[in-house]
Amino acid sequence: MQRESDLNAKGYSERDEKRILDALGRGLLKEFPNPGRAGCPGSDVLRRIAAHEMPLPEAEKWLDHLTSCSPCYGDFAQFQAAHQRRRTRMLLAIAASILIVVCLAGWALFLRHSESLVAQTAVVDLRNRSVPRGTEPNPAEPPLEVNRAAPSWNIYLPLGSSEGQYDIRIVTPSGEILFAASGPARLTDQITSLQIPASLSSSRSGRYVLQIRKTGSEWSSYPLLLR
Ligand SMILES: [Zn+2]
Repeated sequence: MQRESDLNAKGYSERDEKRILDALGRGLLKEFPNPGRAGCPGSDVLRRIAAHEMPLPEAEKWLDHLTSCSPCYGDFAQFQAAHQRRRTRMLLAIAASILIVVCLAGWALFLRHSESLVAQTAVVDLRNRSVPRGTEPNPAEPPLEVNRAAPSWNIYLPLGSSEGQYDIRIVTPSGEILFAASGPARLTDQITSLQIPASLSSSRSGRYVLQIRKTGSEWSSYPLLLR
């Protein structure tokens, strides 16, 4: 980017560039051997002209010499080729970084989209679970798996559960209550279900116990895996 702005700041247009190349090309064609390198500028001057690092008015005064000195043209052509390679590498690097930024942006969009997918209601289906009475879950039961990021749980109660007010608790294996809520269960399409707002995204993932009871009745417990 630096070199790109130098190029503009120091006044090389594409036409100027062509003029220099034409002048040098003629110089080469005429083949002025100059074994003693009489009147030659230092190689730094040639390098700076080739790399557009020298302001054009300053470069101008060397053009007469360059049109009449084959060794200088040879040096200049080498510097110019090196400059072109650097420029190409720089442009490739810029293109690569643009590509990376585009990929990252795409990935971020994808992640946001997936987050919004998981951030939907978690369905906790107890319909086909046995009803384990008490505050200890049946150790043989596979755990219910729920994503902690879900802002709301829709709990399908065991078949035959009646409507009414229910209490929900999530308890650690050592018996501490992580979360407690109550809400009304309703029967829709033969499913008695209970919608509970949950805020567990800051809790640690791992094994817990989900406890449910109809308010005033005995608890039922299910192994729970918060992912
Ligand atoms: Zn020369």
